[in-house]
Amino acid sequence: MIIQVVLDVPLNRAFDYRCDDATKADIGRRVLVPFGQRKLIGIVVALVNESSVETSKLRRAEEILRDIASCSAEEIALFQFCSQYYLHPLGEVMLNALPPLLRRPKPIAPPAPTHYALSSGGRAEAEAAIPARARVARDVLHLLQHNDTASVETIRAMAPGAIKHLKSFIAQGWVVPVKISAHNISLGNDVQLPSLNNDQAQVIEKISANTNKFHVTLLHGITGSGKTEIYLRLIADAIARGGQALVLVPEINLTPQLDNIFRTRFPGVTIASLHSHLNDSERLHHWLAAKTGEARIIIGTRLAVFAPIPDVNLIVVDEEHDGSFKQQDGLRYSARDVAVFRASQRGIPIVLGSATPSLESWHNAQSGRYQLLQLNQRAIQDAVLPNIHLIDMRRDKTQSGIGDALLRAIQIRLEKKQQSLLFINRRGYAPALMCHHCGWAAGCKRCSGKLVLHLRSKKLRCHLCGSESRIPTACPDCGNVELRPAGHGTQRIEATLAERFPDARILRVDRDSTRNKHAMRDMLTQIHAGEADILVGTQMLAKGHDFPNLTLVGVINADGALYSSDFRAGEKLFSQLMQVSGRAGRADLAGEVLVQTEIPDHPLYGALMRHSFTGYADALMQERKSAGFPPYVYQILLRFESVNANAVEDFAALATKLARELRAAHPGITVYDAVPAAIARVAGKERMHLLAQCASRAKLQKFSNAWHAALSEHNTKNVRWAIDVDPLDI
Ligand code: ADP
Ligand code: ZN
Ligand code: ZN
Repeated sequence: MIIQVVLDVPLNRAFDYRCDDATKADIGRRVLVPFGQRKLIGIVVALVNESSVETSKLRRAEEILRDIASCSAEEIALFQFCSQYYLHPLGEVMLNALPPLLRRPKPIAPPAPTHYALSSGGRAEAEAAIPARARVARDVLHLLQHNDTASVETIRAMAPGAIKHLKSFIAQGWVVPVKISAHNISLGNDVQLPSLNNDQAQVIEKISANTNKFHVTLLHGITGSGKTEIYLRLIADAIARGGQALVLVPEINLTPQLDNIFRTRFPGVTIASLHSHLNDSERLHHWLAAKTGEARIIIGTRLAVFAPIPDVNLIVVDEEHDGSFKQQDGLRYSARDVAVFRASQRGIPIVLGSATPSLESWHNAQSGRYQLLQLNQRAIQDAVLPNIHLIDMRRDKTQSGIGDALLRAIQIRLEKKQQSLLFINRRGYAPALMCHHCGWAAGCKRCSGKLVLHLRSKKLRCHLCGSESRIPTACPDCGNVELRPAGHGTQRIEATLAERFPDARILRVDRDSTRNKHAMRDMLTQIHAGEADILVGTQMLAKGHDFPNLTLVGVINADGALYSSDFRAGEKLFSQLMQVSGRAGRADLAGEVLVQTEIPDHPLYGALMRHSFTGYADALMQERKSAGFPPYVYQILLRFESVNANAVEDFAALATKLARELRAAHPGITVYDAVPAAIARVAGKERMHLLAQCASRAKLQKFSNAWHAALSEHNTKNVRWAIDVDPLDI
């Protein structure tokens, strides 16, 4: 018997091995095979009788690992789709979707049981045997007496010593592990649910009308309109119908708060969470819980879209517009788009939710491919949207970055003991260090970016390659000793505030201040406990958090994005500002948002003041249509880089020539000129790209396949290149 095996190598093909004990049931299983001098874990994708390789040269597979169930045909089809659509080797796609521990060349230990129940012995003996003063032991016993089963998670959460007692119960034979099936799950019927408002009820009715069919709903609801409540109801229904629900969220939103919402709503349900902060064994544990069906809810970031979920019958993508759903290297997939494919493959509903949908989804909703459902009111009674005001910085001149109007507004909040949040999307002290005599600015030796001044660590740091250098004492060009910071970052705003409001408690939340494992969690706790008066933060603070005592949001310097060469910059800025505005005045306190700008007449700010996503989206769509940009066309971007500038130029010429030649056979494709990337040099590598687009996705895909094949035939060893399908950052 010959098996075809895909491996985690950058070659888009399967490899043949002899394997005598292989059967059809092994398709989708891991297998240990020799590859060159190494031994690798691969996945069996087919069984064949003959190989194109001579039988005497065929190597023998070492062992098929049968420790866990194989990857299903449906999952293999999903990976094949991704491999073809994103032009990436199937082996890399499949193996990277596995938890790291399953890529190691040895079988895993069988997973520990997750649920326990009282044995008949336990029912008879335990009550009398446990002394009344052993409070925790009795609590554990009572939990088991009053429920058919209890999960280890629940028991662990009861009290610090609870697990110890569980173990001793097991040792005495009072408690035994049980397999949990979809049917004995408690949906927590005694949980108090808020009664839905009319809009919410209608949305749920429309989505639930068709649970056995593929359909995409774009749920467009302003911040605080109760989208999460809708997800929870749909998920409860999905589980009650015997299914599993997959919920995708941006990395930044996977907070303990969200975790709590799910755990309190579904106390009896095992929830698997999948994201990049898990260690290897946690990752394996959660992945297996999804695969065995034990977890009925799988909540995670983009990588969770590849989790095995045999009974999946609902997919939710929250904040569907979020850029973090797109992977920016390796397999450059969009988890949102893969999720839609997965739902169609399975024939189930998928809900994409956002206050500011991506124009791609908006377009699909306008054209009727997606069902558009909207929530236009905040869910909590009397909670109103914040007032948004523009501060014209041409009149409110300031050196410190914070104008008088904003300072006064902060002062008022301090007097009222309410919180303020200043939003600035730049970390560090200042984005550049400059000489005002000759115009010199400190740049990175390896990148085309400016070095960012970090006063805390007394360093200049490159945010592209991470390299650090000392702060020079004088201008290297003209010798001027008065180098000045240019622009503002979070640290500089923090310093200004500290000087101006010496008694205020200021908390800076950015990637630098939250580097330690629990820093973010601790800061959120601090904010909720009212231990901070003024928050200074980047977009980390813009999303999803609910700070009841926060009534003022100040936006420091947003204009920059409006001058960007990226045609999506406006779309991104608008959604960020809507998000961050949504932080003000969520509860019973009215909120106010002050946006400092030098271009107050820009339509983006007008739409923001009116809280009108629709208004701004319509304007952007007009622009995109007349410019011939997505979502009216589809794009692919060939990205390439090398330490050798000539090699990059040569590759650009080659790629352009090949693309132009292919155009004859692929009418309707527009091929642009190769140009330097927006950041043309990173870590010593010159970077360029070449854009191609077409109004038809199918035609573009044929073209990109042909182009990819043509490029692959050339020896381009000294250049790293990849085709980014549906690129987000250009
Ligand atoms: P979104 O996800 O749209 O930003 P949330 O679902 O977080 O909004 O809802 C905002 C707030 O409104 C939350 O505190 C939530 O508990 C509350 N809420 C949601 N639906 C209702 C409802 N039907 N009745 C009362 N409160 C609700
Ligand atoms: Zn100088
Ligand atoms: Zn650098």
